[in-house]
Parts: sequence; C-alpha cells; structure tokens
Amino acid sequence: MTHVAIVGGGPAGLSAALFVQKNGLDATVFDTDGTWMHKAHLFNYPGIGSVDGSAYLETLRAQVDSFGVDRKQGVEVTDVTADDGFTVSTADGDHEADYLVLATGADRGLAEELGCAFDGDVVEVGVEMETSIADAYATGAMVRAQEWQAVISAGDGAAAALNILSKEEGEHFHDFDVPADADAVFGGMGEE
Ligand SMILES: Cc1cc2nc3c(=O)[nH]c(=O)nc-3n(C[C@H](O)[C@H](O)[C@H](O)COP(=O)(O)OP(=O)(O)OC[C@H]3O[C@@H](n4cnc5c(N)ncnc54)[C@H](O)[C@@H]3O)c2cc1C
Repeated sequence: MTHVAIVGGGPAGLSAALFVQKNGLDATVFDTDGTWMHKAHLFNYPGIGSVDGSAYLETLRAQVDSFGVDRKQGVEVTDVTADDGFTVSTADGDHEADYLVLATGADRGLAEELGCAFDGDVVEVGVEMETSIADAYATGAMVRAQEWQAVISAGDGAAAALNILSKEEGEHFHDFDVPADADAVFGGMGEE
C-alpha cells in the first residue's frame, strides 16, 4: 500500500493525514506535541466561531483516528533521507515511505537535512507544497517567513495530500463528498 509519512501533528500534518487516509492511502503521523495550537484560541478559523486551540486539536485527532491514521504521538523524527522513497528515523527504528510531508511548524531542520532547496530562510515550494525533492512536501510556517495561521497550515496539508492523491490517480483528484455521504464518515457525526 502507498505509504505517506507525515512529520508533525499540528493543523498541517493532521490535515494532510486526513485527506490521505480518507482517500485510501496509508498515513503515519509522527508528533512530539509541541504544536503552537496549545497556546492559541481560534476566532479566525472559518466555520468555527470560537474554539480553544487544544480542544480544536483534540477534535482533529479524533477525526483522523476515525479514518484509521497511524498516529505515533510522542515520537520524534531524528532524521529523514531520500533514496528510492524515504526513510524516517526515530528512536524506535526506521520507517519507509513513498511520500514525505514535513509539517514541523517553523522548524526547518529536517528539510535542510534532506537537502530541500530554500528561498532565503524558507523552504521553497509551489502551490502543491512539493519541495525541490520529488515526493517530499513542506507545509506551514517553514514555507513562510511570517503570516502563520492555523487555517493556512491546514490548507497547506490538504494541498500536499491532494497532490499526492493526484499522482497516485494519474489525474487531478477531487475530494468531493455530498450530503448523502454524511452518515458513512466520522462515526456518523455528520448531518442529522
Ligand atoms: C500564542 C499563539 C497564539 C496563536 N493564535 C492563533 C490564532 O488565534 N489563530 C490562528 O490561526 N493561529 C494562531 N496561532 C498560530 C498557529 O498556532 C499556527 O499557525 C499553527 O499551529 C501552525 O500549524 P502547523 O501544523 O504548521 O505547525 P504546529 O502547530 O507548530 O505543529 C508542528 C508539530 O510538529 C511537531 N514536530 C516538530 N518537529 C518534530 C519532529 N522532528 N518529530 C516529530 N514531531 C515534530 C511539533 O511538536 C508540533 O506538534 C497562534 C500561535 C501562538 C504561538
């Protein structure tokens, strides 16, 4: 099965995991829980009036878990290498992946180690969030000097995932659902 390794479990990483796993690929998220969301209260996330950052994260974690994402909470990625796919190293051992999504917030260390091209201080990506290394994506604060917002990170993760899904399909992929699908997803917590 195609495997997507995602480093970082904030809005960017979990959004990438959601889109990937929901559409039939296999996502693993490694996260040390240092997300800025624990310091935030959101009044600017479209569609949500007001939510504590940690509460938002709890809902998002439950959402990805409900789709079967392998969420390795508390596991730090110490190294990533590219050679016919990717090897993600942790204290527990190495994990192989076909695609890599870096979602480590402002920490650009792994992108630098991997050899991704930079534009000044930020990782260089296109609108698909793919880096200079094929099948490696960078999202969130590491691709922007400032303008750091949760909804932008979540969008970056979604864009990376859709590009991966499009590559796998061999044509543009749209993750479009309709009201009739609501009972079948997220534990039936959709439309009443
Ligand atoms: C005080 C404060 C208030 C804020 N208020 C708002 C607000 O009102 N509205 C808003 O939109 N945004 C707000 N933000 C910004 C918002 O929190 C960030 O834009 C958002 O969290 C970025 O998401 P991300 O997924 O890109 O990165 P993050 O949320 O930072 O997540 C990165 C994750 O990667 C993990 N990680 C890093 N390196 C590794 C590694 N090697 N291995 C495994 N895991 C790793 C980290 O532990 C972390 O959990 C606020 C931020 C702060 C600090």
